[in-house]
Amino acid sequence: MIPAAFDYVAPESLDAALAALREGGEDAKVLAGGHSLVPLMKLRLAAPSLLVDLRRVPGLTGIDRSNGTVRIGAMTRHHDVATSDLGLAAKAAATIADQQVRNRGTIGGTLAHGDPASDLPAVLLALEGSVVVRGGSGEREIAAADMFQDYLTTSLAEDEILTEVRIPSPDGWGAGYAKFNRRVEDWAMVAVCAAVRKAADGSCEDVRIGLTNMGGTPLRATAAEEALRGRGLDAASIASAAGQAAEGTDPPADLNASEDYKRHLARVLCRRALEEAVAAA
Ligand SMILES: Cc1cc2nc3c(=O)[nH]c(=O)nc-3n(C[C@H](O)[C@H](O)[C@H](O)COP(=O)(O)OP(=O)(O)OC[C@H]3O[C@@H](n4cnc5c(N)ncnc54)[C@H](O)[C@@H]3O)c2cc1C
Repeated sequence: MIPAAFDYVAPESLDAALAALREGGEDAKVLAGGHSLVPLMKLRLAAPSLLVDLRRVPGLTGIDRSNGTVRIGAMTRHHDVATSDLGLAAKAAATIADQQVRNRGTIGGTLAHGDPASDLPAVLLALEGSVVVRGGSGEREIAAADMFQDYLTTSLAEDEILTEVRIPSPDGWGAGYAKFNRRVEDWAMVAVCAAVRKAADGSCEDVRIGLTNMGGTPLRATAAEEALRGRGLDAASIASAAGQAAEGTDPPADLNASEDYKRHLARVLCRRALEEAVAAA
């Protein structure tokens, strides 16, 4: 379908982009890779009056590591994250759709969009990362735990632009990502991400588990994490912890899977993701 008519600007500074967004009012939208927004516009599920394209804004791309923190510019493409050494984030980004989508879609776009079926929101949540946003009243940092409010709803204000994503350095962590979909380029029916750090005696010093498409927002599998933290990392402990992966979840049933089947998938995928993470830790 053809989108409704809209105006378009491509400012050359962040301040100009923020001003355009402010002047455009509630119907103005930021355009990043366009791989979620444009399909919604074509379906007329979104009809922004103005698109503020971030492509010409300098300083919004690239991956930088310092003092134990990784800073990823909001306009960094999925391809660049997927081919980086960023452990869990790289593994998850590599499963996003196909190469064409990964060449265009951005990390800032997928986090601002807040789709619980997308791969990177649960990774940000599990890694206890954050996003930096700029708006009329300056800059603020939003912790991942406060970012995803409801289905396709984040705590970003309408006049704010997400500029940077922060995650802890993956050094010392093993990562595992298990995604179940019907075709390789599809969104996840369910996906589980896991990061594990081993203690000197080989037990589980720390573990983080994130769930994709198991509710209206990305979720953390806290019961499974608690079951494994401080325990041995043998097959029985992993299986027992993974058995709790669906605790507290409310997965949406859809054409592909019932709620119960998604809970089953979460348990199976959690075991696989943990096994992969433990082997890499
Ligand atoms: C065929 C297909 C398959 C896909 N499969 C997957 C998949 O398997 N897994 C997956 O995770 N994703 C998938 N996607 C989505 C893809 O990852 C998108 O790139 C991503 O969701 C949105 O990023 P974008 O840069 O394209 O954002 P856009 O579409 O440009 O924007 C999305 C939303 O975020 C807002 N926004 C964007 N950037 C910012 C910013 N910096 N600050 C504030 N607001 C911002 C926009 O205003 C808009 O509301 C798929 C997309 C397609 C077309």
